[in-house]
Amino acid sequence: MMVKTRFAPSPTGFLHIGGARTALYSWLHAKNKGGEFILRIEDTDVERSTQVAVNAILEGMTWLGLIWDEGPYYQTKRFDRYKELVTQLLTESKAYKCYCTKARVNDLRAAQEAAGEAPRYDGKCRTLVSDKVNKPHVVRFKNPYEGVVKFKDHVRGDIEFSNAQLDDLIIQRSDGTPTYNFCVVVDDWDMKVTDVIRGEDHINNTPRQINIYHALGATVPSFAHCAMILGDDLAKLSKRHGAISVMQFRDEGYLPDALKNYIVRLGWSHGDQEIFSEQEMIDLFSLDDINKAPSAFNTEKLLWLNQHYIKTLDPDYVAEHLMWHMKTQKIDMSLGPQLSEVVCALSERAKTLVDLAASSRYFFEEYKEFDPVAAKKHLRPVAKSNLALVQQKLSAVTHWTDNVLQQVIKDTADELNVGMGKIGMPLRVAITGAAQSPSLEITLRLIGKERSIKRISRALEFITARVTAQ
Ligand code: GLU
Repeated sequence: MMVKTRFAPSPTGFLHIGGARTALYSWLHAKNKGGEFILRIEDTDVERSTQVAVNAILEGMTWLGLIWDEGPYYQTKRFDRYKELVTQLLTESKAYKCYCTKARVNDLRAAQEAAGEAPRYDGKCRTLVSDKVNKPHVVRFKNPYEGVVKFKDHVRGDIEFSNAQLDDLIIQRSDGTPTYNFCVVVDDWDMKVTDVIRGEDHINNTPRQINIYHALGATVPSFAHCAMILGDDLAKLSKRHGAISVMQFRDEGYLPDALKNYIVRLGWSHGDQEIFSEQEMIDLFSLDDINKAPSAFNTEKLLWLNQHYIKTLDPDYVAEHLMWHMKTQKIDMSLGPQLSEVVCALSERAKTLVDLAASSRYFFEEYKEFDPVAAKKHLRPVAKSNLALVQQKLSAVTHWTDNVLQQVIKDTADELNVGMGKIGMPLRVAITGAAQSPSLEITLRLIGKERSIKRISRALEFITARVTAQ
């Protein structure tokens, strides 16, 4: 039988790290088995679901490259199907209409809590024979009173719940809309899902859902419930820990490849291996290697992975992602080199694409002013003649290539009988405005002849003004 997995988010917020991990594991499991991955939007809670959240989820999934083979399905478009099955269960006496008022149910809960009992519906309407036509009601599932529900969880092993712990849950609200625990079963059955992978917060729902599968005569899928993700401080991961929406990681300059690699290791391992290409993840992923223990978020490690991918991925690909940040930082790219060349030049130093974009600005735009510390140190009167000579030699260059440029700098130093630093540092500050840049010949090459010469003139003027001011 073909493996089918699904990611079934409720669109009540953004795609966060926990959701992204569930999606990634489901996607990987399907790919590993040559199966299919479904995206299903669980929007039955009409009041809390929003189109903004749906879009954010689709955007996050797409950005991470978790492309679904089927869907997105929307539960709100399947109401007829749920109704049909609620009716079937009612007809078969596997569900019943419950006319208890909210007030009664609330009083019941309060009394049970006061008595130290777990709140559960007492089954008052379970045996009603008369149908109070047109009276407001919900529909409850007749959960068995006796026996146990057992299942084997891929992560947590054998799990058993006693039916006495469960109550008759509502499968259709008084406004006629179906509830999560019912829809999820109908959908997973109709969509032929074989493996349900989700967060362990759903573990208590699983026995209820299994009972519904049985009542419908449906095949029960296998389950894998993943442990929680904790923050750096070992508290449950929350907004307090900063970036938790997947798209916020994009905004902060992470590559999707780094985040995906990071997320896969949050609760799954393959020996000590830390870096996985997408194909390796697919080939090596196994539900059996998901950890039982919660995993803790570690920003340092994510940064380390990001740096690794910025350095090692195809510069054209990195440039595509960098482009978003160039626009966000409003860097005018109408003049300047190919962005992928800038990636090659700067990737050794950048931890994030935000840094990379910020430090690439001088390749495209004129710097606003010299970095004061660098200018004070390197644009001194003694540097003037050195700079003037290197400018003169650069003006004569016809083949503006790394080798030629490197030679020009060396020749200037030789001619003046000074160390390379005496030429290099003033030149660097002149052409970039600051004291850090990739090697000079690369920097010069990317900035181009005309702009480099102009910028040296600007530095010479700066020195002149400085002398005059003294
Ligand atoms: N819609 C549920 C949620 O967002 C997930 C349901 C499931 O995976 O079974 O928590």
